[in-house]
Amino acid sequence: MKKTALTLVTGALLAGLAFAGSAFAQDYPTKPITVVVPFAAGGPTDTVARLVAEVMSQDLGQQVVVQNVGGAGGTLGAGQVATAANDGYTLLLHHIGMSTAPTLYRSLPYDPTTDFAPIGLITSVPMTLVAKKDFEPNTLEELITYVKANGENVTYAHAGIGSASQLCGMLFMEAVDTQMTTVPYQGSGPAMTDIIGGQIDMICDQTTNTTSQIQAGEVKAYGVTSSQRLANLPDLPTTAEGGLNLEIGVWHGLYAPAGTDAAIITRLETALQAALVNETVVSRFAELGTYPVTAAEATPDALAQTLASQIELWRAVIEAAGVYAD
Ligand code: ASP
Repeated sequence: MKKTALTLVTGALLAGLAFAGSAFAQDYPTKPITVVVPFAAGGPTDTVARLVAEVMSQDLGQQVVVQNVGGAGGTLGAGQVATAANDGYTLLLHHIGMSTAPTLYRSLPYDPTTDFAPIGLITSVPMTLVAKKDFEPNTLEELITYVKANGENVTYAHAGIGSASQLCGMLFMEAVDTQMTTVPYQGSGPAMTDIIGGQIDMICDQTTNTTSQIQAGEVKAYGVTSSQRLANLPDLPTTAEGGLNLEIGVWHGLYAPAGTDAAIITRLETALQAALVNETVVSRFAELGTYPVTAAEATPDALAQTLASQIELWRAVIEAAGVYAD
């Protein structure tokens, strides 16, 4: 008898909590939302986040504020969101590094597949091999010969182990079978400043960070990691054209902490979808060598599937390279 009463009370309590939760979700959002970018300001992930956040703010009727939490190749910022309150007010905009970190970091303090609720894919950005403008080699073929001859005397910037620039550099060094000296930054925004300043020789980074510098002649460009040349950089050969087996697209996704109310995720998905068809976002992305994903890809399911398959794909590549952060 006692047991039945207790069950009834517990049931009523749970129902009450669920009702409170969905009422809360209906009002969402009632205050500004923070989107953590796990790299420094001024870099490519930051650029994508700020463009998307601006339109999401308009759609949601609340400020969507970008917060840069750089360090440890994106794992510091991601770790911060993994343990944030799952109330829809702290999100993560990350890239391909979400799928490489579980293999690169053997003691990663979060699990990308269980500690986050995916909201949707955003875009996939090609990468470019670029160097300081007075770097000796002029073509991709010359760059390969130069790196092979000079090895560790060549300095290569990246945004930490787990970043796309580190991944691309690792693949490049494997392809040319030569190690360079790698220099980590909190993001490739500051890395690019040092390439332009001539303190570092080269980097492989998203077109969202390199297109204007290439067009302005502030850096020397050797190749783009897409299968086709880019419309706005028509003279830049693909890496395959230069004889290099290095094709990579840096996909970006938006996440909330795991356990976030499903109604909140749906509301955020709607706002993300609005951002990805916004004229300013579409045209700015195109200027930067990329396009938003389709509506079918800007969904929790598509992001979850991409994340799961990319974790498997990169596990094999990283284990074969034997490169680990710890
Ligand atoms: N492009 C950087 C990377 O290598 C990150 C960034 O600063 O957006 O992953």
